[in-house]
Amino acid sequence: MIKAPWIDKGECISCGLCVDNVPEVFRFDDENKAECYDPNGASEDDIQSGAIDVCPVSCITWNTEPDYLRSFA
Ligand code: SF4
Repeated sequence: MIKAPWIDKGECISCGLCVDNVPEVFRFDDENKAECYDPNGASEDDIQSGAIDVCPVSCITWNTEPDYLRSFA
């Protein structure tokens, strides 16, 4: 894995689109903000089209930081 979707939770308005479209990758945390829990749960194309491209506040981006990627190991 060289990149994983990352959500700027401070910007997330909890609309649910990413969670509804790609539930294998995204879920809501205890504060009702979306988070990525399994970056390998769907294809990059599905993550891109089902979440990144449709997030109304554009708060989902690809993250390549090694520490972030290791957090899913
Ligand atoms: S699509 Fe964007 S605003 Fe909506 S829940 Fe997901 S991260 Fe939050």
